[in-house]
Amino acid sequence: MKTRFDAIIIGGGILGVSTAYELAKAGLKDVCVIERHYLASGSTGRCGGGFRQQWSTEANTRLAMASVKRLEGIEEELGYQTEFFQGGYLILAHSDEDVEQFNKNVAMQQRLGLGVKTVTPDEAREIVPFLDQTKIKMATWCPTDGHISPFLLTQAYANAARRLGVEIHLWTTVTGLMKKSNTFFVMTDKGPYECQKLFNCAGSFARSIGEMLNVEIPVDPYRHEILVTEPVERLWNPMVISFGVGLYSRQEKNGGVVMGMGDPNEPVGTYVGSSMHFMYEMSRRFTTLFPKLSGLRIVRQWAGLYEMTADAQPILGPVDEVENFYQANGFSGHGLMLAPAVSQLLAELVTTGKTSMPIDDLHVRRFRGARTFHREKSVV
Ligand SMILES: Cc1cc2nc3c(=O)[nH]c(=O)nc-3n(C[C@H](O)[C@H](O)[C@H](O)COP(=O)(O)OP(=O)(O)OC[C@H]3O[C@@H](n4cnc5c(N)ncnc54)[C@H](O)[C@@H]3O)c2cc1C
Repeated sequence: MKTRFDAIIIGGGILGVSTAYELAKAGLKDVCVIERHYLASGSTGRCGGGFRQQWSTEANTRLAMASVKRLEGIEEELGYQTEFFQGGYLILAHSDEDVEQFNKNVAMQQRLGLGVKTVTPDEAREIVPFLDQTKIKMATWCPTDGHISPFLLTQAYANAARRLGVEIHLWTTVTGLMKKSNTFFVMTDKGPYECQKLFNCAGSFARSIGEMLNVEIPVDPYRHEILVTEPVERLWNPMVISFGVGLYSRQEKNGGVVMGMGDPNEPVGTYVGSSMHFMYEMSRRFTTLFPKLSGLRIVRQWAGLYEMTADAQPILGPVDEVENFYQANGFSGHGLMLAPAVSQLLAELVTTGKTSMPIDDLHVRRFRGARTFHREKSVV
């Protein structure tokens, strides 16, 4: 088995496989992805599948817009069906504070060229029937947002990467890292590997990969729970989000209604068991906004990890401490939707030394010392 590569990517989630594909496409042919379980076994395979361009920071909005542009042609480029569907995102405002913030967000997003607008409660109900519009003050609506299957998108990138010569080594755990002159030595439970460029795409475990090279990568894992109901007739097309109530929900292609929520009391940790508390609390929140849907029956619940940074924005690019050690992690609950743009930018950086969009603000050094940063506010 080959164990020497130009580049090794740790992690076989959406970031790992999309980065592998983009590197190979940009000309770096000798690439290996090392994944300790199977593809999409981490956060990627547990996520809600949504993609949206409605963010509060310019950095996330620009990245998300570039990603959606990329996703619009992804099935053709990768030669694989992904259930890509632009059903829109409706984001609900419940308080005067929400309204003020959302108006600011929409002004910034429109300035960047996004087709997004505010809608009245009655207009929101036309977009999402069954919504109790008396619970909201207004909403924002972007019809080019949508959702996609995380499993199919991961498989699409992995297949395309393999066609370009990328190797993907599954069931292989990275246990230690060392760098001597220009070579990284990657210790695994299957034996040692070597490479010249190393990528930390380990999602919620990015911190422990950084520690192996004495580099602090401040990413902390938090459990997020999610469930799906029995399939029912088509209710609506968009993803609906409420930061105030704290939920997101969309209907799958087969009719099942997916819904998830954030829990501010969740401690840092990698536990991904399911809880009764979530099932009750999720049902309560959902029926607050959709009282007529209280009869929906839950068929499955699961949990995954949000890989949070202090400003809820990703860590991207090189690190100052170790040359050729690249980061694409800390996506803070929105990595699936940013992966198409981020992986392309990272490949540009590695193969040409520059990027078509600025990513300096996402360098890990923003967390070093007393620097201030803009926290992304639009996170459930
Ligand atoms: C409930 C939930 C809902 C979400 N909803 C959305 C959504 O709607 N839209 C969206 O964009 N995002 C969503 N997210 C966030 C999204 O899932 C993540 O941001 C994204 O999947 C991160 O991808 P990744 O490749 O960085 O990480 P992961 O998918 O976690 O991949 C990292 C991989 O690294 C591997 N790994 C770790 N350590 C090692 C090691 N030592 N050796 C080898 N391999 C290792 C892991 O096994 C894992 O497979 C959601 C997340 C959750 C939990």
